[in-house]
Amino acid sequence: MMTDSKKILAFDIGGTKIAYALIDEEGKICSDVTKISTPRDSAEILATLKRIVSGFENQIEAVAVATAGEVSKDNDRIIASVGNMPKDYMNTPFAELSSKPVVVENDANAAMWAEYKLGAAKGMNDAMLVAIGTGVGISFIVNGQLLKGKSGAAGEAHFKVARGNKRRCGCGAYDCYEIYASGTALGIDAKEAYKDDSVTSHDVIKGMKENNLLAIKVFNEWEQDVVNGIIGLVNIFDPEIVLLFGSLTEFMNYEKLEKIVNKDILARPIKLRRAIFENNAAMIGAALIAAEKIKKEKK
Ligand SMILES: [Zn+2]
Repeated sequence: MMTDSKKILAFDIGGTKIAYALIDEEGKICSDVTKISTPRDSAEILATLKRIVSGFENQIEAVAVATAGEVSKDNDRIIASVGNMPKDYMNTPFAELSSKPVVVENDANAAMWAEYKLGAAKGMNDAMLVAIGTGVGISFIVNGQLLKGKSGAAGEAHFKVARGNKRRCGCGAYDCYEIYASGTALGIDAKEAYKDDSVTSHDVIKGMKENNLLAIKVFNEWEQDVVNGIIGLVNIFDPEIVLLFGSLTEFMNYEKLEKIVNKDILARPIKLRRAIFENNAAMIGAALIAAEKIKKEKK
């Protein structure tokens, strides 16, 4: 029996919310998933994480952190931050959280890993995940491994998709994929279409549910922008499956989008699906990565 085996305390840290739960080495969630608002400054984030970890210290064998921002290849620190986190968050000393091993991974990578090990991309050695939130994170499984690049920062959605310096992206450049395919982008699309600066992406979703034609048009055009980037990336990486992840992806039409992608790509058809684990994917993936690290260290 494995019932008394130790667990991994997993966090998913985003710009607006921090979620955490106990997860076992097989990726099963064994506690409630608790959600709190992300504190506004980085010292407070660290203090909050420390307080939570101390409550679990004797039940756990590791801490796993899925976070916004690009994470080092050694899974120990953030090497590049994202616009919606506090400024000094990048320097958070995650190792201080616990006397046990602390493993950090980018949230899109962690979600991709969960889907690859247990979810919609299980058994597929080449897969891609597009995580749509305030920003966009992209993650690739290539030959059964997460694509990390030379430093760990692979999969940034900052490649130019238009000319003319129309939209300023969070990274400082103009007209990146992210500023056309993110939740933020849907909000900008809505403000432009409604000619009203108070309209947000939430109003578009609400309008869609009420069959409002303008809302549907705005959403469809945004969806096409999301798909245009996917077509390019599929041509480059040739995955078996593309997964979409994030709350807005609940409203997307996968059958329609899969047809559009498969009509335009050069390679053999792909599957386009929503990630199975949805909101918990990043925590589960980070826990699985931590479990593998512990096993390797024990050997
Ligand atoms: Zn950018």
